[in-house]
Amino acid sequence: MNKPYLKQFPDEKGFFGKFGGSFVPDSIQQAMDEINTAYNLIAQNSDFIAELRKIRETFQGRPTPIYFAHNLTKKYGGAGIYLKREDLNHTGAHKLNHCMGEALLAKFMGKKKLIAETGAGQHGVAIATAAAYFGLECEIHMGEVDIAKEHPNVVRMRVLGAKVIAVTAGAKTLKEAVDSAFESYLKDPKNAMYAIGSVVGPHPFPKMVRDFQAVVGVESRKQFLEMTGELPDIVCACVGGGSNAMGIFSGFIEDAVELVGIEPLGRGSALGEHAASLSYGSEGVMHGFNSIMLKDSQDNPAPVYSVASGLDYPSVGPEHAYLHSIGRTKVAAISDKEAIAAFFELSKNEGIIPAIESSHALAYALKIAPDLKGQKILVNLSGRGDKDIDFVVENFGYGE
Ligand SMILES: *Cc1c(COP(=O)(O)O)cnc(C)c1O
Repeated sequence: MNKPYLKQFPDEKGFFGKFGGSFVPDSIQQAMDEINTAYNLIAQNSDFIAELRKIRETFQGRPTPIYFAHNLTKKYGGAGIYLKREDLNHTGAHKLNHCMGEALLAKFMGKKKLIAETGAGQHGVAIATAAAYFGLECEIHMGEVDIAKEHPNVVRMRVLGAKVIAVTAGAKTLKEAVDSAFESYLKDPKNAMYAIGSVVGPHPFPKMVRDFQAVVGVESRKQFLEMTGELPDIVCACVGGGSNAMGIFSGFIEDAVELVGIEPLGRGSALGEHAASLSYGSEGVMHGFNSIMLKDSQDNPAPVYSVASGLDYPSVGPEHAYLHSIGRTKVAAISDKEAIAAFFELSKNEGIIPAIESSHALAYALKIAPDLKGQKILVNLSGRGDKDIDFVVENFGYGE
């Protein structure tokens, strides 16, 4: 008998084929085991499920709608273009889906405090929101360089009551923030819970975050059927760590639907100019899990770049590495320039300002739509672009 994919993967050690697992020191492994055991128990608990459902409805505003982009569809003259509106999820992106789940788990485990790292600040804001909701303390570790760059998100976190810890080691960005957050977590794993920002990290995080994001896929499949009477031909989503993509993909994984992950090609295919890990990377272990990553000549994580700060990560969630390796998903890369063009297309033609991250997925749909008349493409619009408008206007004008 064939178990459904989502029940079969990952295995009990957190492997998707050879990808995933947990490659961490013993001290961290103990804490991961505790989270894993608690999650397996609590995820079956009817109180937990009911509570999460209530939160999604009354606090997050779920389900988010699917919108038929009628003007763009007409303009590009081919496939129908549909958007799953995660930009309408509370706080303006999909991240709150797994942050509320992680925080609820922390609450059920009797934890007092959430600890997280953040790069651009989006994950920090979502975790700070969840902490405020549950009355948990919140400690966000952020590189000093990022704190200066992402000022509005730092202000948001502080308004929400989080303590933002400036990390001054090394390059003072995301990597050092991860180290600092883990260090703080290991000082008090009894009272604190580490809350990861995507389908990455050691087991059980890739599975847990996927399961919490799966609501996007479940809703999308049902809504799309109700709306059109059939399934989409293609579903696409941008991939940084890969949480919004795994969320929507998981709803269609057993169907004859093409699933495409869109990576950031940045300024071009030379190492250091992009963050397209699956397109150009190779197998390796980073941040406690085995996946496909971009390496420098010393086999360390390579410097990466994208105009979308939520996408510049030198690896990718292990489940994406697996699904791509067996041919279940496809991967495409979209440049900064194409993403910014799509940002203005959606803003000016439909009245929706997308996040630059999400604009990568949309750009792919606009690229392929003209040749696919009669087909339907569903794009996961992972977030809204309010956070990006100052940067876009300063660097690219008003898109005239
Ligand atoms: C963080 C972020 C992403 C990238 O994260 P994934 O885990 O790859 O989904 C994409 N879109 C938005 C709006 C984000 O904030």
